[in-house]
Amino acid sequence: MSLRARLAILYTTIVGGILLLFGVAVYGAVSFSLTEQVDNILARSVDEIWPDIYVDQDGNLGFTPSSAQELAPGILFQVWGRDKSLKFTNLPQIEIPLDPGGLGSSQPVFRDVNLRTAVGTVHLRVLTVPLVVGESERTVGAMQAATSMAVVDATQRALLGVLLVGAIIAMVVAGLAGWISTRQALAPLGDVTRVALQITRADDLSRRIPYSGPPDDEVGQLITAFNQTLGRLESLFNTQRRFLADVGHELRTPLTVIRGNVDLMRRMDCLDDESMDGIESEVDRLTRMVGDLLLLAQAESGKLPLDFRLVEMDTLLLDVMQQMRVLAKDRLTMKLGEIDQVLVCGDYDRLKQVLVNLIANAIKYTPPGGDVVVGLGKDGHRARLSVSDNGPGIPEEDLPHIFERFYRGEKARTRQRDGKGFGLGLSIAYWIVRNHNGTIEASSHAGERTTFTIWLPLAQGECSEEVIQR
Ligand code: ADP
Repeated sequence: MSLRARLAILYTTIVGGILLLFGVAVYGAVSFSLTEQVDNILARSVDEIWPDIYVDQDGNLGFTPSSAQELAPGILFQVWGRDKSLKFTNLPQIEIPLDPGGLGSSQPVFRDVNLRTAVGTVHLRVLTVPLVVGESERTVGAMQAATSMAVVDATQRALLGVLLVGAIIAMVVAGLAGWISTRQALAPLGDVTRVALQITRADDLSRRIPYSGPPDDEVGQLITAFNQTLGRLESLFNTQRRFLADVGHELRTPLTVIRGNVDLMRRMDCLDDESMDGIESEVDRLTRMVGDLLLLAQAESGKLPLDFRLVEMDTLLLDVMQQMRVLAKDRLTMKLGEIDQVLVCGDYDRLKQVLVNLIANAIKYTPPGGDVVVGLGKDGHRARLSVSDNGPGIPEEDLPHIFERFYRGEKARTRQRDGKGFGLGLSIAYWIVRNHNGTIEASSHAGERTTFTIWLPLAQGECSEEVIQR
């Protein structure tokens, strides 16, 4: 059964339940009040007849019919002797007790009775009052006063009818209102289903669910969340597609070179040194790329094996500087900016790799004559490591993407292949820093220095896995 039908049934049932309770309460209250009024009339009538009844010296019941005529209209009364003989009545046609069951009662009692008469059965309300005399409280008979309940019954029937019809109308209206209002409220869910099916059929994650209602109600929030999920999935799928295309592209070039060199040697039927060097260099390149990819996969999934120890960042930095000076040769000046003694918890080799990647980039992208400045300092509880160069800078459109896998700026892509860049260096740096609970950021503007800054938490005593995972 549809949600809409279920909600409509629920509304109807709730309204029906409320009306049932309300109906029972109203019916009960009205019935009680009407019966009480009848009982009061009967009690007053008995009070009026009471003085007309007397008991003579022989113990016989006597009756002075002074007020019987002034009784409220429709009041019947009977006076019965102890011997169950009818002494007096204002309706001689009825010779049987108005309430046979009440006659034996020692207390005044009101009872509903269905009395069979010649004209049919009559519903009566009967008050039986035992006639008690003397100090010995001797019961000499009983008086019964009765009145027809026809008006009360008719009122109750009319009330029941009104309540039933009212309840049925209210339930139908509630059901219809529920059906119509839920159609409007649930219509966006139909859109969600439609778009989800379209996405599945057309394999198109670029679709979004249109919604014109208030964005902060439940449905609006659901649709916003669904659209955000779609956006995330789309970007993940695109990243995956781009990644596969990039890997394929990066693998094809060295494989083509290797294939060409092998073909050449086969045709020449000898091992040519130049071709062997070419093969070796491409195999190295492939090995590096596969190694980088593996490292990236591990780092991205948080499974990069890291050997956390206390690392003296100043020592690490000097170590890398020495190594990178060889790479810079005389082309660039390598300068040391501020240097502080800084201890962090981390994996020495991985942190070194981050610094190498950053400095290698600075050297790679800065034209001859430029300079690269490396600095290390503290800022509160964090270590700040910076690498800046006065190269051409990173274009504004590239800046948000440089930490993505295989992302290479326009200039980097069109540069002659130097066997180094795959567009993985900064992604690796980013993930290593993240796995050290740190952050990395790049700032670059046209005509200004390009600066990469790494923030790492300073070591607080002993190093352990938990300290880093914190
Ligand atoms: P690769 O250097 O192999 O292309 P990276 O991930 O190390 O890949 O860098 C991504 C991109 O960021 C580079 O292609 C380049 O466009 C840009 N980049 C990184 N460092 C610098 C720098 N110091 N100066 C200018 N551009 C840079």
